[in-house]
Amino acid sequence: MVKTDECIYKSIRGKLPSPLIGLADLAYNYWWSWNRRATKLWEKIDPEHWAEYKNPVKLLLDTPTSRFKELLRDDDFMNLYELVMEQFEDYMNPESTWFSTNYPKWDRPIVYFCMEYGISKSLPIYSGGLGILAGDHVKTASDLGLPFIAVGLLYKHGYFKQEIDEKGNQIEIFPEYKPEEMPIRPVLNKDGKRLLVEVPIEDRTVYARAFEVQVGRVRIYLLDTDVPENGPEDRTICDYLYNAEMDKRIKQEILLGIGGMRLLKALGIEPGVVHLNEGHPAFANLQRIAWLMEEGLTFTEALSVVRGTTVFTTHTPVPAGHDRFPIEEVRKRLSLFLEGREELLELGREGDQFNMTLLAIRTSSYVNGVSKLHAQVSRRMWQHLWPGVPLDEIPIEAITNGVHTMTWVHNEMRKLFDRYIGKVWREHTNIEGIWYAIERIPDKELWEAHLEAKRQFIELLRRKVMEKNERLGIDDPIPAIDENALIIGFARRFATYKRAILLISDLERLKKILSDSTRPVYIVFGGKAHPNDWGGKEFLKRIYEVSKMPEFRGKIFILENYDMGSARLMVAGVDVWLNTPRRPLEASGTSGMKAGLNGVLNASIFDGWWVEGYNGKNGWVIGEESTEPESEEDDVKDAQSLYDLLEREIIPTYYGNREKWIYMMKESIKSIAPRFSTHRMVKEYMDRFYSKAMSNHIWLTRDNYKGAKEIAEWKERVMNSWQYVDFVNININENKSGLEVTVNLDGLRPDDVKVELYYGVRAEGYHIEKPHIIELRHPKFLGNGEWIYTYKGSALKHLGDPCWHYALRIYPHHEKLPYKFLLGLVKWIGLD
Ligand SMILES: *Cc1c(COP(=O)(O)O)cnc(C)c1O
Repeated sequence: MVKTDECIYKSIRGKLPSPLIGLADLAYNYWWSWNRRATKLWEKIDPEHWAEYKNPVKLLLDTPTSRFKELLRDDDFMNLYELVMEQFEDYMNPESTWFSTNYPKWDRPIVYFCMEYGISKSLPIYSGGLGILAGDHVKTASDLGLPFIAVGLLYKHGYFKQEIDEKGNQIEIFPEYKPEEMPIRPVLNKDGKRLLVEVPIEDRTVYARAFEVQVGRVRIYLLDTDVPENGPEDRTICDYLYNAEMDKRIKQEILLGIGGMRLLKALGIEPGVVHLNEGHPAFANLQRIAWLMEEGLTFTEALSVVRGTTVFTTHTPVPAGHDRFPIEEVRKRLSLFLEGREELLELGREGDQFNMTLLAIRTSSYVNGVSKLHAQVSRRMWQHLWPGVPLDEIPIEAITNGVHTMTWVHNEMRKLFDRYIGKVWREHTNIEGIWYAIERIPDKELWEAHLEAKRQFIELLRRKVMEKNERLGIDDPIPAIDENALIIGFARRFATYKRAILLISDLERLKKILSDSTRPVYIVFGGKAHPNDWGGKEFLKRIYEVSKMPEFRGKIFILENYDMGSARLMVAGVDVWLNTPRRPLEASGTSGMKAGLNGVLNASIFDGWWVEGYNGKNGWVIGEESTEPESEEDDVKDAQSLYDLLEREIIPTYYGNREKWIYMMKESIKSIAPRFSTHRMVKEYMDRFYSKAMSNHIWLTRDNYKGAKEIAEWKERVMNSWQYVDFVNININENKSGLEVTVNLDGLRPDDVKVELYYGVRAEGYHIEKPHIIELRHPKFLGNGEWIYTYKGSALKHLGDPCWHYALRIYPHHEKLPYKFLLGLVKWIGLD
C-alpha cells in the first residue's frame, strides 16, 4: 500500500529506536538549518545522502533501521545527539524572549504573506533575494520570539534546477518534489482528515490543501491545489513558482491572498497585523474587507480596520516590476468572490489595469521600501497617489533589509566570533558595540579562517565542474585553484539590470588583468536566469563563451545551479563580492551583506544597501559615489571604473598589502554584521510598524468596532466638506511679525484639520529642501452663520526674500491616523 504523507511522521517515529525518537521532531523543524551541531548530526548519519539532499526527512526515510542500531553504539554520535536535543529543547521553550520582554501584553499574531520562502536548499520554493529575505525574516521572528505566522504556496516543481549545456544555454529542469519526502506536514482538521480550504476562483470553488513547515518557533503554512477534488486544470495552479502565464499567476495570487486568509480562519487564527511582503499577496486584504462587511460594517469602516492593521513592503524600484493585470482578467477570475461587492475591485484600479502594488498601498498604513535609497525612489514613483504632498512627506518609509546572521556566517568565522567576541553576538547581533571586539582577532587567525572558507568553496566549485564535465562528456581537467589567489565572486539571479557581463565587457583589459601569473585572479559567476528572461540567458551564454576562450580558460568559471546551499559557501569563500547593478534598480540587495559579514570585501555600484553600508574602509565603490539614476550609456564608464579599481586598488592591495586587506576585512565584519542583520531589521518592523498596527487593531475593533466607525464617520465628513474647505483671507502685519489666516471649514470642526505654515530656503521652483513646519493654533470661530475660523501665526522674518518660500497648507487630521497625509488630501496657498 502506498503511504499517504499523513502518516510519514508517524512511520518515521515508528522506525527510530526509542533513544533516538527526538530525531523525528528535529527533522521536521528547520531550526537545524542554522545550528551547526544539528547539521553535523544529520551528516553523521549518512554523509553522502546528506551532501546530496540536505533533507533530514528523506534521510530518515532512506536510512535502514540497522544503521540507527549502529548509531546507538556510537558514543560520539549519541553525545552529539544529546547536546543537540538539549539545545533544541531550550530554544523551543525559552523563559523569555526579546519580544516577551518588550511587548508583554500582545495577544494576536502577526501574519506574514509572501510568494516565496528561502529557508534551506531542501525546500525549493524560492527563486532569489525576495524569498531568502522572507526566510531570514521568519527565522529571526523565531529567534526574537515574535508571535509570527507565515503563509505561502507549495510548488510541485519548485523553482527550476539549472544545467548549462556545452553551448552555454541554460537548461531548466523541473524535478517533481514529493511533499511526503519533505520536512513539511499536512494540515489536518479536527477529525484528523486533511483540511481543505475552499477558494473562489472564476465561478467555482477550487480546493486547496495545506502543509505546515516549522521554522524554530514559527510556522509557515503552504497552500497547494493538487488534490483530486479539483479538475485537472485547477490541480496545476501551483506547479511552478513565477509561472509566466497570466492566468496561472492571477490564480496563484488569489490562492495566496484569499486562500491564505481562509486557511487562517479555518485554523481559528485571527491576525492582529498583516504584513504583505511585495504586492503578490494583496488580495488577502480584499478578503478581510469582505468578511468585515459580512459582519455588518460599511465599506469605509471595513477598509479602516484593514488599512490600520496592514504593513506593506515594496521591493521593486521600476514601474514595470509591479504586478499589473488587465482589470477584466482579474474581474473574471474573482467573479464568484466579487458577487455583490464589485466595488472592491476599485481598490486596485489603475485605468483599465489592476495593480497589485496599488491595492497593497491603498489598503495599508505602513508602507516601506527596503533601503533608504529605494524608499526615496518609491516615494517618487508613487507620489502621484498623494497629490500636493511634498516628496519627503509621502508615507513610504525605509526599513533596510538584512540577513539572518546564523544562517549566513561561515563556520570558521562563527568559531572566531565565539572565541573573540563571546557568544553574545548570537543573541544581540544588531548591537554594534559588540562587534568592535573583532579587533581582537589576530590577523593570522582571521586569514586562516578565511583561507579555510576559500578551500571549502574551491572544493565545491571543483566538484560541480567535474559533475558538469561528466554529464556533458567533456574531457577537461578539473581546475586547480590556489586558495592563496585572489578570487572574485558574482552570484545572484541573472536579471539583466544586474549586469553580470560588465566585468567581461572589455576583454582586452580583462585579459591584461588576468594574465599576470605572479598575481593570479579567478572569477566565479553563478546564478539562474528566469525561464522567460532571454536577455539574462544571453548574458549567461556570453560568460560561458568567454570562460571557454583560451586566454580565460581555467580563470573564469560558472557555478551551475546557484542555490542557498552553494551560496552559503560562496559568500564566504571568495575574496571580493562583486555587484554591478544599473542604478537605482537594486532595491536593496542582500548577498553583499552575507559576504561582508564573512569578511569578504564588497566591490559594488553605489546602489541599494551599499549606499548605507559603504564607509570608505570596508570595501569599494565602482563608479561614482552618486545616487543619480544611470542609463545604458553609463555601462562603459562603470566597466572602465571597475577595471581601474581592480588594477589600482584591489589586486595591488591583495598581493602587496595583506595587512591593509585584513584591516578592511575587519572593518567589513564590524560595520556590516550588526547593521545589516535581520535582527536589526525585524526589530525595526516590530518597533516602527507592527506595534503601531497592533495598537490600531485594538483601538479600531474594541466595543464592536467603535474606533473604525469613528474613523469612517470622520472620513465621510471630511470627504463631504473637503471641496469647500479653503483659505478665505490672509493678513500679514506691516512688519512681518504676525499673520492672521481666515479659513472656511465648511462644517468641519477645527480639530478635524490642521493648518500649517510651511517655509524655508528655496531649492528649485517651489521646492524646499529642509522645510520649517509650524502649526497654527487657537482657531477662533468668527460666526456669521458660516464655519469661518481665524488662525494666528508669526515667524515670517524672511517673507519677501526671493531665496525663501512661504506657504500655508490645510489638511484633514485625525489623531489615530498614522500619517498626516494618509488620505492624500491637502490644500496650499503661497504667501510670496
Ligand atoms: C542572497 C541570495 C540571493 C540574493 O542576492 P542579491 O545579490 O541580493 O540579488 C540570491 N540567490 C541566493 C541563492 C542567495 O543566497
